Amino acid sequence: RSQRQYNFSAGPATLPVEALREVKDELPVYDHVGASVMEISHRSPAYDEIEASAREHLRALLDLDDDWHILFLQGGARMQFYQVPLNFLPEDGVADYVVSGRWGVKAVAEAERVGGVNVAASSEDADFSYVPDVAEWDLTPDASYVHITTNETVNGNQMTDDPVLDVPVVTDASSEFLSRPMDLEGYGLIYAGAQKNVGPAGVTVVLVHDDFLQRRTQPLPTMLDYGTHAERRYNTPPVFAIYMVEKVCRWLRNQGGIDAIHAINRRKARMLYDAIDATDFYRGTVDPEDRSTMNATFRLHDSDLEPVFLQKAEQEGLLGLSGHRSVGGVRASMYNAMPEAGVRRLVQFMEEFERTHG
Ligand code: PMP
Repeated sequence: RSQRQYNFSAGPATLPVEALREVKDELPVYDHVGASVMEISHRSPAYDEIEASAREHLRALLDLDDDWHILFLQGGARMQFYQVPLNFLPEDGVADYVVSGRWGVKAVAEAERVGGVNVAASSEDADFSYVPDVAEWDLTPDASYVHITTNETVNGNQMTDDPVLDVPVVTDASSEFLSRPMDLEGYGLIYAGAQKNVGPAGVTVVLVHDDFLQRRTQPLPTMLDYGTHAERRYNTPPVFAIYMVEKVCRWLRNQGGIDAIHAINRRKARMLYDAIDATDFYRGTVDPEDRSTMNATFRLHDSDLEPVFLQKAEQEGLLGLSGHRSVGGVRASMYNAMPEAGVRRLVQFMEEFERTHG
């Protein structure tokens, strides 16, 4: 297709078209440096400026003080599943994990390679249709940290009350990063693969609080030690991905920042969930109070119709709506860059589809 369509893919995901157009204009010559951004040294003044600007936007968007380090790492969120325990979970220690979806399960498996893991709560026996209530978490008093997944991309649930506990909280915020205001008080570390809300695949944004950073175990391999990257630009960073993160963050500030986008995200989610709830033809997979504003997962009353629904949607220019291969069904990812008009179009399509197939 030669025209951009509404892309509901869970990630890599839709990006602001304004940012993409800028990139197009800036290739193959970036800002009078005589080469593209992909071709210049990561120690050059031009690149320094890009990275500094990306950091500045993130600090401003999240109101981060200097105690927070901003790291741009590689290896994706899945590398963080191992890097977090490697740095903070001693072999004879225990970390608490709250498991509200498939990604939490994966995070536990990696932490178990490093040290003791206590699953403090899990909604697995209910197919992750809800987020375990914080009052019911079975926490270990001296845990090294508590790991949560604030937005479960596959299962479509979200935890929006940022917990403040006796020990630092670590969250996998990959699929909700910069989509809502976050209360950072309880967190020691926040990580997010960029390819949902902040840029292309290839960079993982890690925010780590200095007090937590100081607790890491030693010795650590240089590249997997958060301290290495907090101290200086150590290796060649994924320059192109960071350049895109800078653009997406600047775009977000121009939209009015996180409060403004959060209001839009809530409107989009309400529009879609209202459409799901208006009929028995569709059925949400998550308890209403725990539904994600980012990834709405739902089924059709007749699951045989799901492939037809997905195929027709695709024909109508509504892309990337199939549920994760592990759960099936439908998933509409509505990240920051998805316009309200896209969700409105999806809702119209759902209404039409029900009329013709109901
Ligand atoms: N955690 C969450 C919440 C995710 O949504 C994803 C990707 N869908 C991952 C981890 C894995 O990310 P990556 O492929 O960047 O390792």
